Amino acid sequence: MSDCIFCKIVEGSLPSTKVYEDDDVLAFRDIQPAAPVHVLIIPKKHIATMNDVTDEDGALIAKIFAAARKIAADLGVAESGYRLVNNVNRDGGQVVYHLHVHLLAGRKLGALLA
Ligand code: IMP
Repeated sequence: MSDCIFCKIVEGSLPSTKVYEDDDVLAFRDIQPAAPVHVLIIPKKHIATMNDVTDEDGALIAKIFAAARKIAADLGVAESGYRLVNNVNRDGGQVVYHLHVHLLAGRKLGALLA
């Protein structure tokens, strides 16, 4: 999508600090980190929100979680722990409408529900 900033990162027309890439998935550092480790894991294909995921995307979603597992290990936080977050639409706090999973780690994270 031409007006999607994460599609532009995938295309390389916007910069990012990549931590993982394969044919279908890209992961890069969040520009405003909420934790010492804050990585965004995205499908290269444009999917706006989790609501737009279809049954055909099952393997892609599995690849996103496999990437998360690998990134956590590579960044040395698999044992200490990490959190995966997916915000959906306005009340979920979604700001960028290209599906992404936040990987947060590097400090003791607070209670999940506020
Ligand atoms: P959301 O609130 O779940 O949609 O999260 C969007 C995230 O994207 C926020 O944590 C932003 O800091 C992050 N973000 C926005 N633009 C960029 C960028 O250009 N590079 C890296 N992260 C970005």
